[in-house]
Amino acid sequence: MASDPHDIGDHGPTLRWHPFLRQWVGIAAHRQDRPQMPENWCPFCPGSGRVPDNYEVLIYPNDFPAFSEDAPPFVPQPDFYCETGARGQCDVVLYSPNHKLLPSELPVDHWAKVAHLWAHRTKELKSRPEVQYVAVFENTGVAIGVTMPHPHGQIYAFPFHPPLPQAEFESMQAYSAAHDGECMTCMLLKRELADGRRIIGGNDSFVAFVPFWGRFPTEVQIWARRHAGDLNDLAAEEQQKLAAMISLVRRKYDNLYGFPMPLMMLVRQSPAKTPAPWFHFRVDFLPIQRSPKKLKYLAAVESGTGTFLNDTRPEAQAEILRNTLPRA
Ligand SMILES: [Zn+2]
Ligand SMILES: [Zn+2]
Repeated sequence: MASDPHDIGDHGPTLRWHPFLRQWVGIAAHRQDRPQMPENWCPFCPGSGRVPDNYEVLIYPNDFPAFSEDAPPFVPQPDFYCETGARGQCDVVLYSPNHKLLPSELPVDHWAKVAHLWAHRTKELKSRPEVQYVAVFENTGVAIGVTMPHPHGQIYAFPFHPPLPQAEFESMQAYSAAHDGECMTCMLLKRELADGRRIIGGNDSFVAFVPFWGRFPTEVQIWARRHAGDLNDLAAEEQQKLAAMISLVRRKYDNLYGFPMPLMMLVRQSPAKTPAPWFHFRVDFLPIQRSPKKLKYLAAVESGTGTFLNDTRPEAQAEILRNTLPRA
């Protein structure tokens, strides 16, 4: 039976069932009431009273979460007018105490500290009974709507598999089932390495390339060379190599058009509860700048039909980015 949508909304973030798309929509109306920060005050800066006076990297609770451990439980009844609790977690990940540092300016050793914190928090969140999926991500740039300059990313713990990860899980699982347990990503990695046209850089443990199927302009993915499912399956030196690749990609992006690239970064990890031997760790970069002066908007075709139009050709962009020096 569908719950009464008016029962639950005042107690925190909720989820409503979209009966046409058959997916959850988060309702977090309290996020609209986010206060304007006083000028020259930043809660993430040491001395604010909100964070320790000394830190290198830090998990900070999101004050206006879309998913919360205090929300009513998530009881999925995919039915008309179903509304249920958005039980989960939303963290802010502070990359540095330095307010003015861009994420792309973090030194490699500092990215390794961020990766270590991501791994630690992923493990913690995955172990919670209600958590099905942990999304580690970052939005960077005013063009993308980020008003807080202090370098930070976020972690969301979902009580379900969100639709895009779920679609990818199904593809990977189906391929693996049809190929004696072979990993689809491992297979495609061999083909990318053999082809080479879309590769922009790499080290012993990771390869960065513009995917053949890129949806965003100059989209880049970093794939683990070795089959691994999440950050906790990577050894410390592999996390260090990941840090080096993240730094390389971001510093190349900053030199592509001569200013910091507005982008979304997503760390793709295996599901929390479903055993996923077919899943292969990677990091995605979704830039929204399609030329020095033009932004890519998710307009009617992308938002309304789900079909992406990429205004750049992945092979051409890969060649440009391969030849772009990383910002010093
Ligand atoms: Zn700050
Ligand atoms: Zn693999």
